[in-house]
Amino acid sequence: MKIVVPAGGIGGARFLRGLKQAAPEAEITVIGNTGDDISLFGLRVCPDLDTVMYTLGGGINEEQGWGRADETFAVKEELAAYGVGPGWFGLGDRDFATHIVRTQMLAAGYPLSAVTEALCDRWRPGVRLIPMTDDQVETHVVIADPDRRAVHFQEWWVRLRAATPALSITPVGAADAKPAPGVLDAIEAADLVLLPPSNPVVSVGTILAVPGIRSALEAKTVVGISPIVGGAPVRGMADACLTAIGVQTSARAVAGHYGPELLDGWMVDTADEGTAVEGIAVQTRPLLMTDLAATAEIARAALEFAAELR
Ligand code: GDP
Ligand code: CA
Repeated sequence: MKIVVPAGGIGGARFLRGLKQAAPEAEITVIGNTGDDISLFGLRVCPDLDTVMYTLGGGINEEQGWGRADETFAVKEELAAYGVGPGWFGLGDRDFATHIVRTQMLAAGYPLSAVTEALCDRWRPGVRLIPMTDDQVETHVVIADPDRRAVHFQEWWVRLRAATPALSITPVGAADAKPAPGVLDAIEAADLVLLPPSNPVVSVGTILAVPGIRSALEAKTVVGISPIVGGAPVRGMADACLTAIGVQTSARAVAGHYGPELLDGWMVDTADEGTAVEGIAVQTRPLLMTDLAATAEIARAALEFAAELR
């Protein structure tokens, strides 16, 4: 069985871990979000690709959900001693090595997809991880703080904790980006597509904004797992992203936003029992990824649901 999963970072990676357990024989291709990517200290940092790679490869900081386990912060402290920032983005010593390797390979002319493959040679995540595009896409957020200005998504998300309302959110460069090699082929070859509980705006939404990806996915059986449970994001600030694009923070509104052309099936939590969306089959079950076993059960249910809809 061939499965394609367009994924962001933490939510996407945790779901993928459950999916691997539920379908150990499946060939899973992950299309990773690169809109969160940022250049810091001259290094190219790809938070979502790395979160998937570290989580599935056994190197993640489990409590935090991002960054390396057994991390130290000597480089960060030394940079701060020089007065060189930003200090609000957490980069540990072990993590720095990943960004150095990536930046060195990019400078040598390798595309991000080839760099990601090389990094995965070490981590062996057990899935094929492809960035959505090799072109540069960066999500920018317009805030009114106090003057209207655009900031990088990470500055809004990490430094401002999305507490300053976003006037708009734009994946800059997406309209001119091409899907990375292998992305469209993987979708075409897929038996089914699962949308994990990733951020529907700045993770899945950004991937869908790369021309060609959305229409390729629409031709497939797609089942999505709602990231909104009982009218709230389970963790994080996805509500701030949805508000910025004029979508209510509800399981129903997110499904409506994806639309019946994309979604065949939508899974909602028991807290959202009774949710109905025109043109989309809805299934209700517990959706909290409390541990690996619970997450694998969610993935198993999604696979069965997709099989019914095919
Ligand atoms: P990313 O979008 O995959 O980078 O990961 P984030 O962790 O930023 O976003 C994941 C989204 O999934 C969050 O916005 C939450 O709304 C949602 N989420 C987090 N944990 C759970 C969970 O246990 N179950 C469900 N259904 N959604 C979750
Ligand atoms: Ca993300």
